Amino acid sequence: MKKGKLIVISGASGVGKGTVLGIMMEKRKDLTFSVSATTRPPRPGEVDGVHYSFVTKERFEEMIAQGEFLEYDAHADNYYGTPRAQAEEKLEHGCVLLDIEPKGAMQVRQAMPEAVLIFIMPPSMEELERRLRGRGDTPEDQIQKRMQRAVWEMEQRSWYDYVVVNDDAQRCADEILYILAHEAN
Ligand code: 5GP
Repeated sequence: MKKGKLIVISGASGVGKGTVLGIMMEKRKDLTFSVSATTRPPRPGEVDGVHYSFVTKERFEEMIAQGEFLEYDAHADNYYGTPRAQAEEKLEHGCVLLDIEPKGAMQVRQAMPEAVLIFIMPPSMEELERRLRGRGDTPEDQIQKRMQRAVWEMEQRSWYDYVVVNDDAQRCADEILYILAHEAN
């Protein structure tokens, strides 16, 4: 029996989704995070099984063939996907947060229309680029690709249920928690 809802959080790379999600999970211990599978290599500090399940391209394609993903997408030269079994298991205990991009969010909306879709905007494009560079872990060609993709991603916000601005991570987390209190209890 599902006890919670899927909460999809999207927003351009560098918008601060990780920080916002971290604050939300500190404040609401009943929220869990869906750990995506990806073929991208871990960044410094990222832990396998916590931030992502890091898998090979062959393994990812095997999982696609077995129908193991609730949604998946290929972007920034890598595959990213939400393992269905894990999400369903976590939903039995409460709401589950998904940090995924718009193509995946659209697949979730079709598979689970009751999911709540939230889009996080940066205060400005200049600020987004500054944050992306400030992380210091993304090569220049990737920064340019991610900025181009950010423009397309932000156009997708119109079909999300809610749009919030991450001008301050604490405030943004509180705003999303407020939404969840009304949507997902
Ligand atoms: P990053 O490489 O910076 O961790 O993530 C790049 C993008 O992939 C982000 O926009 C993130 O939301 C998205 N992403 C992470 N996991 C998934 C997933 O399981 N499915 C989809 N569709 N996108 C994901």
